[in-house]
Amino acid sequence: MISSSTSIGILGDGQLAMMLGESAERRKIPFIGFGKDKDSSFARRFPKNFELEIKGQCKSFTLENEFFSSEALAAFQARWHTPICPKPQDYKHFENKIAQRSFYKSLGVPSPQWCVYPKTLEYPQILKTSQGGYDGYGVRFVSTAAELAPALEALGHSKGRAILVEEKVKIHKELAQGVLLDGQGGVVYLPLVESIQQNGICILTLSQPTLPDAELRDAQSQAKAILDKIAKSGIAGLYHFEFFYTTEGRLVMNEGAPRPHNSTHLTLDASDWSQFDLLVEFLNRGMLPLPSGTQIEATPSIMVNLLGKTSGTEYALKLPKIEDGIEIYPKLYLKKENRPGRKMGHVNLVDRRATPLSANEFLALGHKIFKEYEL
Ligand code: ADP
Repeated sequence: MISSSTSIGILGDGQLAMMLGESAERRKIPFIGFGKDKDSSFARRFPKNFELEIKGQCKSFTLENEFFSSEALAAFQARWHTPICPKPQDYKHFENKIAQRSFYKSLGVPSPQWCVYPKTLEYPQILKTSQGGYDGYGVRFVSTAAELAPALEALGHSKGRAILVEEKVKIHKELAQGVLLDGQGGVVYLPLVESIQQNGICILTLSQPTLPDAELRDAQSQAKAILDKIAKSGIAGLYHFEFFYTTEGRLVMNEGAPRPHNSTHLTLDASDWSQFDLLVEFLNRGMLPLPSGTQIEATPSIMVNLLGKTSGTEYALKLPKIEDGIEIYPKLYLKKENRPGRKMGHVNLVDRRATPLSANEFLALGHKIFKEYEL
């Protein structure tokens, strides 16, 4: 077992834990990942840094998923006398979708109209399971009264699950932005990116959203105003927020996550600081690694999520031919088993040429790669 007294601890052993470990390794920050699966992404990449049980002390902990309750995090923190990021009281706002909506309301952050079932809104509406949904699995579009009962049943309402009801927003673009917060209003901004969804799963992320300049500036300034309100709330750590930019030009909050997120993986290759670098340095130093107000920029780039297309433990990625001059950074998550639709990796394409591809050209390239890669 490696000595842990100076290490940062990562609770979880999936791909986000693996990429946190890779960033810590590059920065020579000792780290340990704690998980259950010796065949997980983290354990396969860093077998010597992987532990099944927490023994000894890390100087701080973070997490890569929302499979905890805030009570469990508080008990964990008390048991090990070690800070955890996000703090249990900060995490509480994110542990289910209803708590999140209440948090945004208390801060004056714009959301779609919402209520909790059995209260209801006009049709069409969206029903969401408050806890445990991901990649669109806990979301149902309900257009008529006849569709309500089957949607409630599918979301587990009869088994006692709380259901969030939302107005169906007229979405023009889906945008996302990450921030590192110091808990005292200090903030480092990751780039505002556009995400392209297919069946509730993000398939592409663009560093330059496909919006005309004036609309993009407007969306950026609305996002900044929202993020500054969140920063002032006093929560600390790395957070990501997904927004809807409506057809009327309003930016509204969809949801947030108190951790690294798929939407800013392109910072790994297109920015001076990745989202993982920011978090590991924050955990290591206990303060923002960059001056508050810093905006991390991204070179024109796109991330294509690599979802499994076949099944099996023997698999290899084959990318289609990509235009000369564009840099290609494929990243497989080392998952033992490939399955159709499973997030197996991503590829970042970065264009450092004097005249880079436009956002729409990147988008077309992203769709072509998403369709043609083999895995
Ligand atoms: P998950 O937590 O499973 O990722 P989301 O809440 O992000 O689910 O919803 C998945 C997708 O469903 C969103 O990316 C968006 O395309 C669509 N969606 C979610 N909420 C709304 C809404 N209120 N109005 C319109 N579309 C929505």
